[in-house]
Amino acid sequence: MTKIILYHFILVVCLLSTYHSNAQDTYLRNSSADVQGYIFNLSLNDSTNRIEGEAEILINFNTEVNKFSLDLIAKSETFGMDITAVLEDSVKADYVYENNKIKIKPSANEKKNRIYNIKYEGIPERGLVIDTTKFGQRSFFGDNWPNLARHWLPSVDHPSDKASIEFHITAPEHYDVVATGEKIEESNLDNGFKLTIYKEPAPVAMKVVTIGVTKFASRLLEEVDNIPVSAWVYPENRLDGFSDYGVSVNVLKYFIDNIGPYSYTKLANMQAKTQWGGLENAGTIAYFENSVTGKNEVEGLIAHEIAHQWFGNSASENDWNHVWLSEGFATYFAILYQENVYGDDKRKEELILDRKQIIDYYKKNPSSIVDPTIKDPMKVLSTNTYQKGGWVLNMLRRKLGDETFWKGIRAYYAKYRNSNAMTIDFQKSMEEVSGENLDEFFQQWIFTKGYPEIKWNWTYKKGKVIIKLDQLQSHRLFSFPLEIAIRNQGKDTVKPLQIDKASHTFKIKVDSRPDEVVLDPQLWLLFEEKKFE
Ligand SMILES: [Zn+2]
Repeated sequence: MTKIILYHFILVVCLLSTYHSNAQDTYLRNSSADVQGYIFNLSLNDSTNRIEGEAEILINFNTEVNKFSLDLIAKSETFGMDITAVLEDSVKADYVYENNKIKIKPSANEKKNRIYNIKYEGIPERGLVIDTTKFGQRSFFGDNWPNLARHWLPSVDHPSDKASIEFHITAPEHYDVVATGEKIEESNLDNGFKLTIYKEPAPVAMKVVTIGVTKFASRLLEEVDNIPVSAWVYPENRLDGFSDYGVSVNVLKYFIDNIGPYSYTKLANMQAKTQWGGLENAGTIAYFENSVTGKNEVEGLIAHEIAHQWFGNSASENDWNHVWLSEGFATYFAILYQENVYGDDKRKEELILDRKQIIDYYKKNPSSIVDPTIKDPMKVLSTNTYQKGGWVLNMLRRKLGDETFWKGIRAYYAKYRNSNAMTIDFQKSMEEVSGENLDEFFQQWIFTKGYPEIKWNWTYKKGKVIIKLDQLQSHRLFSFPLEIAIRNQGKDTVKPLQIDKASHTFKIKVDSRPDEVVLDPQLWLLFEEKKFE
């Protein structure tokens, strides 16, 4: 997702993050229970914020039948849920509800697949945002990222256990209802309520399941590869919203053509109350209320959230500390989409902005992209996981070449589609297609803090440009290719240099004294430039 708000149009993030590859976040995983599917029956109403729910959860015990836990925030004073029943295959189950966990002991029999029903009710404090839109209409929006589903949906609230999802929403009939999945039923009940059912067969992580219930105007924009692309906006913003979100059609085409098949039954673009600038909910993306202006000001944001449908939603990080596989990818793939539409200068413009943020951030938070010291999933969001992650992909693209880079991206997605991956899995995919050993690359850029701090100058002497260059950072010598441009009357001659020592001197033959020498003219290296006095 993207954190609100807006330096010229878009987004961006800020928070914290550092280091090695077997990092585990602290979520206590079930040893053998694997959720296959959720059916969430929810009743919403106009008079209170109390919801009534019944979750039907299909669990496969993939090794042995063993006790397992589901997350659900328990009632405490005003907010939280009370459980009224827990059933296993329609029979009362053995369970305790403590510390916001429903701990279930399966009955003694051989069945590997069992259905658990959890009946519950209460007022959610978070996760399901019950509020009014900026136009004063009552609204219900799911806003789960990273671990807020547990406030309203009993579930394994961690991206490592994904499952198919159905929402059966009963709400007063004046509401329009959108949710994760394909709409398979809309029926008026005889009591002034309406039942709407959405079903998504692809496995989805709880961080990106959602509902939107309010007064909407909605339009089918186009079908792309049989995927319906729609806009769901507030009626007051109807035409501006359809226009602003229309760009999603081009973005979807670009990513399908370049990465691989889209994983979900639809792509709805939803104006929403969300704590984020955008939240990439699978197939039902939420954008902040003021994203609609009628001036196409959020194209980069839309590209970011749609890129997440491949990276983060379909190929999901298996561990919160590897969230750059989601955010760094969405950041860079939004740049790739914009480069494709507007040209290479757009890539450079975005990378210059991102580099400045990375350097500013590093001075206050010297940490690496994968930082196992972080335990709170909210804190994995940082300039490291977004902008620096994106910059690392830009450098990897240059290292491998465009063709191999895209081939590797497609291979990684094909292998981990509808599944989970760690950084090492991505590294291996890129190594397999390129035949290169990328250990050093990943170690220095992903698992080591910082970047090269390069102090340098150039002089001209007797037909030669002499470049003196030092790496100043003391914690690690980086090894990288560096292009320099020798500039004469606005024309660049680009030379590649290989840097792997603390101090280098290069002598390059030239015809005459150049007007200027520039490091990395095409924006392929993340570094901080310092000139000798
Ligand atoms: Zn994102």
